[in-house]
Amino acid sequence: MPFLASRLSRIKPSPTIAVSNKARELKAAGKDVIGLGAGEPDFDTPENIRQAAIAAINGGDTRYTAVDGTPALKDAISAKFKRENGLEYSPEEITVGTGGKQVLYNALMATLDEGDEVLIPAPYWVSYPDMALLAGGEPVAIPCTEKQGFKLQPDDLEKAITKKSKWLILNSPSNPTGAAYNFDEMKALTDVLKRHPQVWVMTDDMYEHLVYDNFVFCTPAQVEPELRDRTLTVNGVSKAYCMTGWRIGYAGGPKDLITAMRKIQSQSTSNPSSVSQAAAVEALNGPQDFIPAHNKVFKERRDMVVKMLNDCPGLRCPMPEGAFYVYPSCAGLIGKKTPQGKTIESDGDFVTYLLESEGVAVVQGEAFGLSPFFRISYATSTEALRDACLRIKRACEALA
Ligand code: PLP
Repeated sequence: MPFLASRLSRIKPSPTIAVSNKARELKAAGKDVIGLGAGEPDFDTPENIRQAAIAAINGGDTRYTAVDGTPALKDAISAKFKRENGLEYSPEEITVGTGGKQVLYNALMATLDEGDEVLIPAPYWVSYPDMALLAGGEPVAIPCTEKQGFKLQPDDLEKAITKKSKWLILNSPSNPTGAAYNFDEMKALTDVLKRHPQVWVMTDDMYEHLVYDNFVFCTPAQVEPELRDRTLTVNGVSKAYCMTGWRIGYAGGPKDLITAMRKIQSQSTSNPSSVSQAAAVEALNGPQDFIPAHNKVFKERRDMVVKMLNDCPGLRCPMPEGAFYVYPSCAGLIGKKTPQGKTIESDGDFVTYLLESEGVAVVQGEAFGLSPFFRISYATSTEALRDACLRIKRACEALA
């Protein structure tokens, strides 16, 4: 009898974390490596948020809290949903977890039975399919091509829905493509969902605040209030508030679902860090002016990276609406040979070649369910990005 559980064989370790680890190892070994694999802002957590955490520690907020969030944080989240999304969620319709990642996982664990299908537009965030598998469900990828702006089309959604479909996971702006749905595009999807009452929507709004060029963010329950009772609106402080290490994510949804998710959390991790929760209260209630200031920098980087990548022979890089990723195609390089005589047969081969030849770490599109592409995170310094793009160009030019 094997010691490790069979469920482990259904999943793989996170490929994005693997790339970051590889880049870190190479750097530690003295190699000149630029890591563009990690999905976290390079800005520090704002001062007022850090001070709130220090005050919480000194004020004795150092004990267990309610399992799925303190009343103060739930109030701040409720106010945020109302202020920014026009959504009314009472505290008992809100859950707080150790990152958005745990919140998504709790929801799938609380709802999936063997054979239940989870519809996932591809390219997708690497964890959705594996989380669905761990929870005993069946991930069903719905391909979204570059021509469609990497966005789910209503007809494709309609065709993918079966009697077993339990969830549709939406993520706008998207990791890995940066694509975001405007109101009309979202409405076309919610119109389809209205016809299929068995399908719930898990919307991952983690990159809500990271949109550019006056793009207006929207979320399904806001666009179609009729879906509110079968929507889980997931968000968090990691990305917009530069708080990846603090591990606070949250969601609003129907009370029965939230209660079920709390039950999972109560028997696994209990409450997220009390200190991080106090910091998140300040993040949500405090000044928000650093968000547009950061976005200005992100937008400049996005524009520079898109332009420089489109100057590389064999690459084509669409301009995304949000997040801090670009998702260029390397189709024009497939079949070419490296100076060492190796043929580039996939996006995986290309990213290995980039790392080995020029020390640039990016993630292969295969990990996100759509090839031949790769993902670059531009949440790193402008100088490092410029240097990385020049190296990528040199690597492309060296292929024959
Ligand atoms: N959802 C998406 C699309 C992400 O990119 C990430 C982080 O990379 C998360 C969720 C998880 O965020 P956290 O657990 O830090 O809140």
